[in-house]
Amino acid sequence: MAKTIQAIRGMNDCLPEVSGTWQYVESTLRDVVASYGYQEIRTPIVESTELFKRSIGEVTDIVEKEMYTFEDRNGDSLTLRPEGTASCVRAGNEHGLLYNQQQRLWYIGPMFRHERPQKGRYRQFHQFGVEAYGLLGPDIDVEVILLSARLWKAFGINNHVKLQINSLGSNEARQAYREALVDYLKARADKLDEDSIRRLESNPLRVLDSKNPQVQEAITDAPSLLDYLDDESKQHFSLLCERLSQAGIEYEINPRLVRGLDYYNRTVFEWVTDSLGAQGTVCAGGRYDGLVEQLGGKATPAVGFAMGIERLVLLLTTLSDEEPDNSAADVFVTALGDNIESYALTVAERLRDLQPQWRVMLHCGGGNLKKQLKRADKTGAKVALLLGSEEAEQQQVTVKPLRGDHEQITVELGALSDTISSMLD
Ligand code: ATP
Ligand code: MG
Repeated sequence: MAKTIQAIRGMNDCLPEVSGTWQYVESTLRDVVASYGYQEIRTPIVESTELFKRSIGEVTDIVEKEMYTFEDRNGDSLTLRPEGTASCVRAGNEHGLLYNQQQRLWYIGPMFRHERPQKGRYRQFHQFGVEAYGLLGPDIDVEVILLSARLWKAFGINNHVKLQINSLGSNEARQAYREALVDYLKARADKLDEDSIRRLESNPLRVLDSKNPQVQEAITDAPSLLDYLDDESKQHFSLLCERLSQAGIEYEINPRLVRGLDYYNRTVFEWVTDSLGAQGTVCAGGRYDGLVEQLGGKATPAVGFAMGIERLVLLLTTLSDEEPDNSAADVFVTALGDNIESYALTVAERLRDLQPQWRVMLHCGGGNLKKQLKRADKTGAKVALLLGSEEAEQQQVTVKPLRGDHEQITVELGALSDTISSMLD
């Protein structure tokens, strides 16, 4: 036998038993963003490597060790996108969507990071994100947070996620903070790991983002960014807090929240859950007012978030005690005997014309009644249509309910749709 080929480690197939949940998640996301007037943007999954280096930052986990980078046949360095924001900004600049305009955009799609695969962490994963451009206020920060909060409600998991917020202030404020933080960390260098020591020089704020518990402990008393905020950022942050409270959104201020990408400034936030173990962040975002200019556009304020769909799906399946509906069909059409196939086909097509929302599955491949009914049962169908030579001759259909306590009945073609309807409710 030929050797079978397996999927790449950390890259998952989405099988029929869960694809229904994915479709539900995706359509709910689409409905909610539409209700805020956001429009979809789709960008390629491959970009020039330079884009991510310049936006996410050279000294970050993603750029240092997680990117899928390769040379294409021209020798250009390309990278499978590790996140969506850089691509949105690149596309916005390229097509003149951002300068002097306001844009409210969303995207969904696969992202790629070479991380150690584990529950909630994969090498190909999916993010849904929103990005708002050209709006400086805290009002738009509040809007994107409210939008995310509405999603939790729509999914019925609002009691299982908590909002953490922080402000990173201006570049100058972060510079001042950086010095205080470096002093603090240097005094505790013996408690830091190798990565953190290296970052102490190159990008000390990243140390606050470390996942290492020992490092986490060493930074519990680190100076707080909030004490170093410039006046404007301070005002922005206090307005944000005020409006969130007015909107009835509970939050916790976490002065250690810095996010793993370099482009953020001022507002940053995460939605976290304790129902998923170590991979507790389901959604993360913030303001990135400098990025558009940094990538060659005209200075444009921006704010957004990205949500990990695998973690969301995991959360939904962990919290739900309902069995997902894995049925493939509502109505199963059998075909018994020779020359019945064309009648069965006509009946099935007719039903699809009349009731496009029903899932009508036609038996293929012959076999006796028992075999066909067994297959019908496997699809989860609620009704089977029994079509034999008599039915074909009389232009009738025998309708056999497979669940519930309706009676089997033979009806004229004209009455078929109504008869099935009464059994499906
Ligand atoms: P983490 O701290 O968990 O590594 P991150 O800060 O790298 O997350 P972001 O880059 O902000 O995450 O991505 C936003 C969201 O995308 C995360 O909160 C998470 O839900 C999801 N996500 C990120 N990396 C992965 C991954 N490798 N597998 C699955 N989901 C992921
Ligand atoms: Mg990460």
